[in-house]
Amino acid sequence: MTKFTSKFSKKHIRKCVLCGRPTFSPKSPHCRRCAHFTDCMNNRQIHKDAVKRIEGHVRRNGFVCEYTGKKLNLTDPKDPFYFSFDHMIPGDDKSVRLTFTLLNEMKSDMTFEEFKYYIRQFARFFDTGKEIIKRKLKFWVRLAPKIS
Ligand SMILES: [Zn+2]
Repeated sequence: MTKFTSKFSKKHIRKCVLCGRPTFSPKSPHCRRCAHFTDCMNNRQIHKDAVKRIEGHVRRNGFVCEYTGKKLNLTDPKDPFYFSFDHMIPGDDKSVRLTFTLLNEMKSDMTFEEFKYYIRQFARFFDTGKEIIKRKLKFWVRLAPKIS
C-alpha cells in the first residue's frame, strides 16, 4: 500500500455509525441516507431515549419495521412502506417505534395491542362474516369531534 492510499483511506473512508456505509463528508458521522434519517427523527422531536433505542434497532437489524420486520423504503415518501415513526402508546414520546406509513395510518391512535385486536377482528369478519366485537380504545377519545 502506498503512502497516498493509506492517507486517502484515513481521510475519506469513515464509516457511518448507523449502517457502516462510507460517510458523505469527513465531518459527518453518517452516510447521506442515515443523515436524512436522523434529521427526520430530530425534526419530529422524538424523545432521546426513543432515538437511542431506534438507532440500536437499526444497527442490529437494518432499516426494518420494529413491529413486523418489514424492510422499509427510505427514498420514496409515496411508498406505503416508506419509513415512519409511530407512538406505540399514543401521546407517549418515549414509546416511539420505527415502522412504515401504511401501518402507522392504519394503527392511528390505538396502542399496538388494540391495533392487533382490531386487525384480527377485521380479518375474522372478512374471512367468515362474523360480527366485529367492539372493544373500548384507551386513547381514541382524542380523535372524537368536539361537541360545543
Ligand atoms: Zn448510514
